[in-house]
Amino acid sequence: MSDIAKNFIFWLVVLILFIFIMYGMNMHNMNNQNIDYTTFLSAVNKHEVQKVCIDENYINIIKKDHSKYITYIPLYDSKLLNRLLANDVIISSNPPQKHSIMFSVFVSWFPTVLLIGLWLYFMYQVKNNHNHNSTSFGKSKTYIFSKDQINITFNDVAGCDEAKEEVSELVEYLKEPKKFQKLGGKIPKGILMIGPPGTGKTLLAKAIAGEAKVSFLTMSGSDFVEMFVGVGASRVRDVFKHARKSAPCIIFIDEIDAVGRQRGSITSGGNDEREQTLNQMLVEMDGFKGNEGIILIAATNRPDVLDSALLRPGRFDRQVIVPLPDIRGREKILEVHMKNIPIASDVNPMVIARGTPGFSGADLSNLVNESALYAARLNKNLVSMLDFEKAKDRMMIGSERRSMIMTEIQKEFTAYHESGHVIVGRLVPEHDPAHKVTIVPRGRALGVTFFLPESDILSISRQKLESQISTLYGGRLAEEIIYGSKKVSTGAMNDIKIATNLARNMITQWGFSDKLGPLLYTDDENNQLFLNHTVSKSSYISNETARIIDEEMKVLIDKNYNRAKKLLNSNLDILHAMKDALMKYETIDSVQIDDLMNRKKVRDPAGWNNHNHQN
Ligand code: ADP
Ligand code: ZN
Repeated sequence: MSDIAKNFIFWLVVLILFIFIMYGMNMHNMNNQNIDYTTFLSAVNKHEVQKVCIDENYINIIKKDHSKYITYIPLYDSKLLNRLLANDVIISSNPPQKHSIMFSVFVSWFPTVLLIGLWLYFMYQVKNNHNHNSTSFGKSKTYIFSKDQINITFNDVAGCDEAKEEVSELVEYLKEPKKFQKLGGKIPKGILMIGPPGTGKTLLAKAIAGEAKVSFLTMSGSDFVEMFVGVGASRVRDVFKHARKSAPCIIFIDEIDAVGRQRGSITSGGNDEREQTLNQMLVEMDGFKGNEGIILIAATNRPDVLDSALLRPGRFDRQVIVPLPDIRGREKILEVHMKNIPIASDVNPMVIARGTPGFSGADLSNLVNESALYAARLNKNLVSMLDFEKAKDRMMIGSERRSMIMTEIQKEFTAYHESGHVIVGRLVPEHDPAHKVTIVPRGRALGVTFFLPESDILSISRQKLESQISTLYGGRLAEEIIYGSKKVSTGAMNDIKIATNLARNMITQWGFSDKLGPLLYTDDENNQLFLNHTVSKSSYISNETARIIDEEMKVLIDKNYNRAKKLLNSNLDILHAMKDALMKYETIDSVQIDDLMNRKKVRDPAGWNNHNHQN
């Protein structure tokens, strides 16, 4: 944009200068001395004048001593010519209005010519970029780090061990692409890193490059989206060309959702430029065969808005989740950043980690920095716990406070909710066991319970489906049991949605209703009921049938809801214990869940530093 502005100003200056020059040319003979008409006539009478050039309303005069003058004709003087001839003055004249016609033609055409010129210039620039990318216009704002410039390794990235593990094989590949090609191994071309801002996606991508000792190209998706159609696409081409030159390398695209939003969706407003950019990106991705040693890594906070074409096999088909760190993650991140500042002996990272739920890696790095600044302001040599407390309070209460940062009350609420899911899930028959629970916010969910394995929905038994419905209501029920029905939150919306859909499918598609029998009551393609009261021509369900479907769904849901309620009420002690464990550890694994379900003392998870924990 600034390039375009610069160009525009340049041309404006040229235009103004040109007009001045034209104007100046019209002020011909500016140097000639101006004399009055009477003086001129007397000079003629004295035979001093050698030559005159008579124009419409003025006369250029050359005297015999070669001095030049100009005078203006006051009125039409019929005797002038005779008088001049009588005094042997050479008379000449200019073709009528020669100057002014030229000038007016120029003035009237110049803006048009200028506009056409400008247009041709821009066209040339864009086209040029397609072929040579030799100008700055349309060139991507890519930052290239050569392999020697990156000194970040996996040790600098803390608290996202799963993500680190998932990307570590890329390091091997980038180090020795040939080894993998020999065995026909298929290495992903594109990796999508999903996670809230500041969780270390850029850092992790850079660390991959640092570990593998390859170059790193980085740019932001929003840089691609320009005012002019075609510029974004040319930038994409540009980036890939750079990448091919510096392969093996990593291309990192931050904020991919800026370009990769669903095409033709309402929110996008049919932005041609973005679509072209996205298409170009898809073309380029399909173009490299994955044996050039280029790996694309894109980061986003909103995978749900991405165009599905981006996520297809051979593109960004591998997804790595980089979540907000849990309490142990925060401790490790703090330790990484504390290495760079002098720390007093009273500083306990675990205590700080416990007081900063919802902080991202970037927040924590900022916290360490702020604390150091506090200490420096007081001329201290070491950063003490007090400095950390002050910086933390300021970040949590001050203007920098972010919505993600959780309060203790929110944490507890989420802990009960997730515990409800886990406990019901463990006690109903045939349910996949919960292997991990966390109350660290993820996406738009406040907490998550992970059940293993994720089964194929087509082959599930009726009993298992009913167990799932019970489990889904476990979260909401736990809230209600602990806080009362007035305090339940909207957080269970997604659970309710999934449970309702399950129940509907069980009755209308999978034939699990005794009253309705094994009949299909939906349109296969989009799972929409053909209800009588819709205008659809193909409606073939009567109002009566629709009513029975609703009834049967209600019966099914009530049954499983009440089962979950009973299970929770008879295991309230486990519910409280699990809440306490979640408050302490934020994430608990299957071993700890086993302990809780068996009413044993909860073991610490691996890597938990017990001595840190005595506050
Ligand atoms: P994102 O790309 O996810 O928005 P960044 O990678 O840009 O986040 O993180 C910004 C900064 O925050 C990093 O440079 C680093 O100092 C700090 N940071 C973020 N996550 C971590 C982490 N997991 N470990 C250590 N430092 C981190
Ligand atoms: Zn839930």
